[in-house]
Amino acid sequence: MFLHALRRPPLTASRVRAIGHSAASRRALPFFLNTFRNASSDDRAGADQGKFLRLVMFGKPGAGKGTLSARLVKKYDIVSLSTGDLLRQHIQERTEVGRQAEEIVAQGKLLPDEVMLRIVASKLDHLRNKHWILDGFPRTVGQGELLDAHLKKQGTPLSLVVNLDVPDEVILSRISDRWVHLPSGRVYNLSYNPPKVDGFDDETGEPLTKRPDDNPEIFARRLTQFYASTSPLLEYYTSAAQKRTPLPRVATPQQHPHQLAFPPAHRLLLKTLSGTTSDEIWVQLDALVRDTFPALKENAASLETRRRHSLSEAVVSQTAAGAQK
Ligand code: AMP
Repeated sequence: MFLHALRRPPLTASRVRAIGHSAASRRALPFFLNTFRNASSDDRAGADQGKFLRLVMFGKPGAGKGTLSARLVKKYDIVSLSTGDLLRQHIQERTEVGRQAEEIVAQGKLLPDEVMLRIVASKLDHLRNKHWILDGFPRTVGQGELLDAHLKKQGTPLSLVVNLDVPDEVILSRISDRWVHLPSGRVYNLSYNPPKVDGFDDETGEPLTKRPDDNPEIFARRLTQFYASTSPLLEYYTSAAQKRTPLPRVATPQQHPHQLAFPPAHRLLLKTLSGTTSDEIWVQLDALVRDTFPALKENAASLETRRRHSLSEAVVSQTAAGAQK
């Protein structure tokens, strides 16, 4: 009955939020993953074979996954899927999945792996030739394995896992100030990213809400859940990033079978980005994505904003030069 409900038409959701990482999960990582460096040509070679950005944004609840995903979506031609947002939409719309998920989400527990895969797969299957980000999925090694098997069948393997490393105390201080715009997933923080009008979304003017699971008691449970079930995924991706997986040979109608070359093997790239604010991490993430996926297009609106910015900078520096004469 539960699975039947998942066959309903896909919901739309994008989103916004923030993440972290602690000593415990850091210990699971080899030292070379603990510092950010620019993408090397080897990294690029691995990711280019996939060409498409197929990114898992990994990190603790509240560490900035949504906020950073939203920035990527705003700047580049990328689609973001947040399982938390999808579930909140289901809950708000009182769908069958939503009714089943409500209690589990409110208690900070996890939904079954197969259910989550179906929710995600029904979306991903429409995004074959797109760049995409998964935010909040996978959250267990089981989900990671199910996702890999599904993507393998589709011939669209993951190309990048970003592990957001934000200290626990920073995350805990963010949670009580966090407000969300449910339909879009946009996230505000009263201390460092407040809405223009108190209590209302900047873009739609609709009311903001507090997530029922953003309270200290439930949040502590979600963090415990992260260490118990989600952090082992880092080891899973660390070992996946050390392997090269052959890609299938695909012939065009004009090609004789003997002309088929073996495509270079695909390699997943795993990067840890550290910082105490999403602004700090954004600079690293933007550089990583730009360097690793040179084919990724910037959105027209983002280019226009940058053009205006550099024009106004030019005017300012000309005015300053004139004043000095
Ligand atoms: P998030 O907005 O990502 O923090 O997700 C909110 C809640 O939705 C989580 O605390 C879980 O109860 C549920 N949830 C989201 N993603 C998953 C997932 N991949 N697996 C299981 N439960 C999930």
